[in-house]
Amino acid sequence: MAATHVKRAYKFRFYPTDAQAAELSRTFGCVRKVYNMALQARTEAWSLRGERISYNASSAMLTAWKRTAELSYLSEVSSVPLQQALRHLQGAFTNFFAKRARYPRFKSKKKSRDSAEYTTSAFRYRDGRLTLAKMSEPLAIAWSRPLPEGRSPSTVTVSRDAAGRWFVSMLCDDPGVEPLPMLDSAVGVDAGITSLVALSTGEKIANPRHERRDRERLVRAQRDLARKANGSANREKARRKVARVHARIADRRRDFLHKLTTRLVRENQTVVIEDLTVRNMLRNGRLSRAISDASWSDLRTMLEYKAQWYGRDLVTIDRWFPSSKLCSACGTIRDRMPLNVRAWECDCGAVHDRDVNAARNILAAGLAVAACGDGVRPQRSTPGGRSSVKQEVVPPLRSRAAAQP
Ligand SMILES: [Zn+2]
Repeated sequence: MAATHVKRAYKFRFYPTDAQAAELSRTFGCVRKVYNMALQARTEAWSLRGERISYNASSAMLTAWKRTAELSYLSEVSSVPLQQALRHLQGAFTNFFAKRARYPRFKSKKKSRDSAEYTTSAFRYRDGRLTLAKMSEPLAIAWSRPLPEGRSPSTVTVSRDAAGRWFVSMLCDDPGVEPLPMLDSAVGVDAGITSLVALSTGEKIANPRHERRDRERLVRAQRDLARKANGSANREKARRKVARVHARIADRRRDFLHKLTTRLVRENQTVVIEDLTVRNMLRNGRLSRAISDASWSDLRTMLEYKAQWYGRDLVTIDRWFPSSKLCSACGTIRDRMPLNVRAWECDCGAVHDRDVNAARNILAAGLAVAACGDGVRPQRSTPGGRSSVKQEVVPPLRSRAAAQP
């Protein structure tokens, strides 16, 4: 089996010196300025004259801007992040013209994330030390894991979040990812109501332990913020505090999801999940599920790329599949399944935990799909098809055997 060649981003926090922070703040400002001016120029050319401005033409504009008195400060920062901003804008327009994305928007100081991208000519990486252009000292990076042996980054992105924390993301070729040996096992995963996720094996995975404490902290910080007067220094402090708590919750969540998805992919050849959408949740009233939409979409993304790395199969099943109303033992579909029902007994005598039963059904449906088509995913064959709930037929006995190997 050949190893898949992938690029992988390694992201770390770092702690800039005052001089580095000043240099980077200036660079962020210039990146935003150049992006917005180029967007303005392209918008005018397009709306007034029906012309498209190429990347090269916008690059020539940048050179001209730097020569003017009022924009000469653009020459004081590294030119590479400015060029990269023009490349990103080019990409945004390509997506827009291909109808893949909306019209590019201006970057605002308040709402856009501060970031600057450096390519190899604008940084030096040696023995785990990363030095950016226009800086004399390497960044003080908090290495939480090493870069792959013998690898150097091809692109480095520096950013600062709303909480004022600094991050550096390094894109590296990752030769180390090889498909794992094939397995027979398969697992269904349900976004639970009584737990974070439930597995078809019967295991229920709870929210991380610190989750509740972090939430309480967040509520306190938000209440604090609401009490502070607009525009006061204390309000700014309180705002930062809220952002910090948010950031910590997100970090811990992501960390937890990484561990969970790695485990699921390592232990199983096939992982089956439901294709959840906000629409679905609003319609079937599963808003009280423990895992939020954002986390579920993170979980799905992680499963997708990890399955690809390790040669596993991720099967997503139709979002209208009645996973919680269907008895995984006999295949009877119940009319309704109120949210407060955590466990139930079917007429066939089977006693079910609500979420585990749903996970078993999800697994069975996924295996039925995997068996009957080469990677045919039901949500593709019936896009948005609400009626597919009734048409979904799962052979209960055979799939049950498969569900419990
Ligand atoms: Zn039954």
